[in-house]
Amino acid sequence: MKTKLSNDHAGRESGSHENTGVGRRSFMLTSTLAAAGAGAAGLFKPFSAEAAPRAESKKSYGQGPFPAEGMALYSSEGPHKLMKFQRRALGPKDVAIKLQYCGICHSDIHHGRQHWRKETFPLITGHELAGVVVAVGSSVSKFKVGSRVGVGCMVNSCRHCGPCESGMEQYCENGNVLTYGSKDRDGSMTQGGYSTFNVVDEDFVIDIPDVVDLAHAGPMMCAGITVYSPLRRWSVGPGKKVGVVGLGGLGHMAVKIAAAMGAEVTVLTTSSAKVEDAKRFGAKTVIVNAQGADLSKYRRSLDFIVDTVPYQHDLERLIPLLKMDATLCMVGVGKTTEPHQIGPFSLLRDRTSFASSQIGGIRETQELVHFCALHDIRPEIIKIPMAKIDDAWTKVVDKQARYRFVIDMTHA
Ligand code: NAP
Ligand code: ZN
Ligand code: ZN
Repeated sequence: MKTKLSNDHAGRESGSHENTGVGRRSFMLTSTLAAAGAGAAGLFKPFSAEAAPRAESKKSYGQGPFPAEGMALYSSEGPHKLMKFQRRALGPKDVAIKLQYCGICHSDIHHGRQHWRKETFPLITGHELAGVVVAVGSSVSKFKVGSRVGVGCMVNSCRHCGPCESGMEQYCENGNVLTYGSKDRDGSMTQGGYSTFNVVDEDFVIDIPDVVDLAHAGPMMCAGITVYSPLRRWSVGPGKKVGVVGLGGLGHMAVKIAAAMGAEVTVLTTSSAKVEDAKRFGAKTVIVNAQGADLSKYRRSLDFIVDTVPYQHDLERLIPLLKMDATLCMVGVGKTTEPHQIGPFSLLRDRTSFASSQIGGIRETQELVHFCALHDIRPEIIKIPMAKIDDAWTKVVDKQARYRFVIDMTHA
């Protein structure tokens, strides 16, 4: 596979891709490759060091604890302020990661603003981490110094319950440890990726193949996997018509991934300015879902909907777009104080299922990275320095992200 460097949205250096013929292979082939580990073994070199990491890997970091700094919230109102702290010393299975990028997910805002629960402050959010391994614990086997890696929303789980044993640690029956805002195994609170450094158990670290720029890898860790997992679960593929509601971080990845799986994609957006982008990402049909817009001509046209909208919105408008026995999967998570309403007749009319889905397991996240590499799928990103996080949060809430802000810490 060839890649070339060109400009991304922000006009900075970043990986961009020419379609080399491996781009639109069937989804089955990809799944088979990923399941067989062929992605890592054949197409991609698992251990590599590009220019910046090589310099990092020469520096000796020891076994820690490691000094780190990040942008923390000290209250739900913010603003973010610099916090200096320490990452724990390496346990036998830990890797120390010098972070280079972290995507900004709307969930960071929900957490920071306490839309879901009471948080413990100071809080460093961020769960779309990408960086380079600079030190490894004594029994680490998957990674070495110089490995390019990503970390998503979880950094540990019980490992012995049913979901954990089947690779779905996101549904751990005993509660997983989230990348931020969770009680870690040593009793301290985890702090996320808006920071320069992290120490993570290797079982919760994702290998990033050479063809994927680290800046692009971050958003795959949450936005990408959160839509990939339900698209797979509900067997999206050739012959299926899929609706994607909300064209933001998750939504734009959903369009690209569903199109690469061979589905016909319809986007429902409230932003008329995003219509052309949606088509460019692979949507065949784009509906501007403005207040009062007539959706009747799209009635019973879709086999599946993935809804990524982060706040309360009218689901009763969307359900009639589904064919009989189809599913609306809500991955957007609104404020707990403003639950969604579905009237009794909405679902019974066409035996519709209303479902949800939470990120994806570690194995599935690795598979998603290989899927993106194989199909030349990358998030559209805008790189920002740490000092611009508050500004980015405002823009995300205003639906202005095009389509993922990524904090660039390569100079930190
Ligand atoms: P995002 O980048 O802000 O995108 C959300 C999109 O939804 C916006 O671009 C906008 O698209 C639409 N939207 C926003 N506010 C709206 C409103 N008030 N009414 C109608 N439409 C609105 O957010 P994201 O990072 O993709 O995250 C989306 C949601 O998924 C968040 O709630 C997040 O917490 C959740 N999430 C869930 C999981 C999970 O495991 N289930 C994982 C990650 C994130 P248009 O301009 O096209 O209308
Ligand atoms: Zn997220
Ligand atoms: Zn478990």
